[in-house]
Amino acid sequence: MRIPRFFVAPESIDLLNQQANLSEQALINQISNVLRLREGDLVDVLDNQGQIYRCRLKTKPAGKKSAESSWFATIESSMKATGEPARPLEIALPMLRPNRYEWALEKLTELGATSIVPLLVQHSVTRDGKLSRWQNIVKEAAEQCERAFVPEIYSPIPIEAYLKRLTTDEPDSTIFICAERAEAMTLPAVLCNQNILAPHKISVIVGAEGGFTEDELKMAEELGVVPVTLGSRILRAETAAIYALSLIVSYLEQNNKLSGTT
Ligand code: SAM
Repeated sequence: MRIPRFFVAPESIDLLNQQANLSEQALINQISNVLRLREGDLVDVLDNQGQIYRCRLKTKPAGKKSAESSWFATIESSMKATGEPARPLEIALPMLRPNRYEWALEKLTELGATSIVPLLVQHSVTRDGKLSRWQNIVKEAAEQCERAFVPEIYSPIPIEAYLKRLTTDEPDSTIFICAERAEAMTLPAVLCNQNILAPHKISVIVGAEGGFTEDELKMAEELGVVPVTLGSRILRAETAAIYALSLIVSYLEQNNKLSGTT
């Protein structure tokens, strides 16, 4: 049977006493009511810093500090957590209608995005979204798909500020902008071009349902962002983000295999 996994704050791991504190309310609910685990069950606890602890569940009886009983776990072994892409992969995706955006966040997490940026563009359909809800969605997706880290979700940011930040602060990264209807190279062709691919992070910017404005595309181009096409069909924004990330992850995994690094 698959061993349940939980991310906890790094300070919840007490290496001195070889214990993991699981007394956060959402975690108690997940353990007691959703998964219906019992004392003695094995769980994998991740510190979101790359370490995974195989633990045995113990109940903490109700006491003076808390009226309810809660959980902790004793650490039996630890190892390096796996499941991360070979380099940081960021997706900047304008906010969409909530159900579609949340679906996209889950799939992007499963595919290996290391950070997600809710972008504000001229044609954004909505500017509202709940960061805490999004963080919860990516945390659960990261647990389910056996990632070592929970992807970071930033606060929504206008595309102009995002482009300036990326191009100034992260010179080692490659930035792609998915430009439908443009005379651009296809993403797979660009990935194979070593002159274009910088050694570190890869960021992909996707437009809203209404696409990018001429000014947004022009600004990206002036800052050295690489325009790419995803083929001859016009994809919905979330499909474009998921397809672009799939192509990049598959390229990186294939290349790592060929170079023998995995
Ligand atoms: N309203 C736009 C139009 O009709 O031209 C379509 C926008 S599309 C629904 C949403 C975003 O997905 C685009 O801005 C782009 O970033 C990305 N996208 C969709 N299809 C694409 C393609 N074939 N190549 C590159 N990007 C694409």
